[in-house]
Amino acid sequence: MDINFKDKVVLVTGASSGIGRGIAEAFGRSGAKVVINYMRQKGEAEEVLESIESSGGSGLIVQADVSEEADVLSMFEEAQEHFGDIDILINNAGIQADSSFLNMSFKEWTKVIEVNLSSQFLCAREAGRHFLMRGIKEGDRAIGNIICVSSVHELIPWAGHVNYAASKGGIMQLMKSIAQELGEHKIRINSIAPGAIKTPINEDVWSDKAKMKELLKLIPYGRIGEVDDVANVALFLASDYADYIHGTTIFIDGGMTLFPGFADNG
Ligand code: NAD
Repeated sequence: MDINFKDKVVLVTGASSGIGRGIAEAFGRSGAKVVINYMRQKGEAEEVLESIESSGGSGLIVQADVSEEADVLSMFEEAQEHFGDIDILINNAGIQADSSFLNMSFKEWTKVIEVNLSSQFLCAREAGRHFLMRGIKEGDRAIGNIICVSSVHELIPWAGHVNYAASKGGIMQLMKSIAQELGEHKIRINSIAPGAIKTPINEDVWSDKAKMKELLKLIPYGRIGEVDDVANVALFLASDYADYIHGTTIFIDGGMTLFPGFADNG
């Protein structure tokens, strides 16, 4: 299977670290022009750009807080001026602000909902508008493609993280409702739902032997995920090989959603 994104423009939110970085670099290696969104980590975003350029690709770094409407609009304008309309949006930026439910502040609740869920609404809406204005490109099957980075916690409840789990459950219904509404326009949208992937967001777990031992009990396949496990699926899902996959979530979790707690008869 030869997956090539030559002449395609992909915008990746939160692309200066972790999964976003891995996805941005994978698209760069596959020939795409990559818009690398970052919020504060300019140095890291520049490293991602260098790595894409050194693999023969091209990129543009754009600063934006994707939970702010004005920032999202100007990010799409800047991308459009530089590369033309985008073809693929990867809604990836996300945060955790953990707290037990009774101690969670309203600020911790709204911040996570705004960054993880409202940002995906804003970016998907803007991408959809750009796709429709441009229309279909010759030789393409879809006029545009959106991938939402969700989590196993769109399915698995998560005590101590109600803001995060609610944001990811919200992404599932956001994605599916957009899929119902925009499918007829040949806009394809899906989610990828990682399990435990080794990135800065969960460094406190993978850098601690005892916590890792506990985590592995939740992963039937017996290892933590790597960023490329997710990036490879994103490449496939954004390609025409996946043209009939629409409105669904692909879990990339080593079996975490198999409810391994029930493996020994519950
Ligand atoms: P990460 O912390 O490395 O990446 C998150 C990125 O989002 C960072 O680059 C951060 O700067 C950026 N970001 C945060 N707020 C932003 C804002 N307002 N505007 C723009 N960018 C912003 O962690 P990661 O693990 O790579 O997370 C990426 C996505 O994957 C998140 O949506 C996360 O919920 C999801 N995810 C991760 C895991 C995992 O195990 N690592 C599991 C499931 C889901």
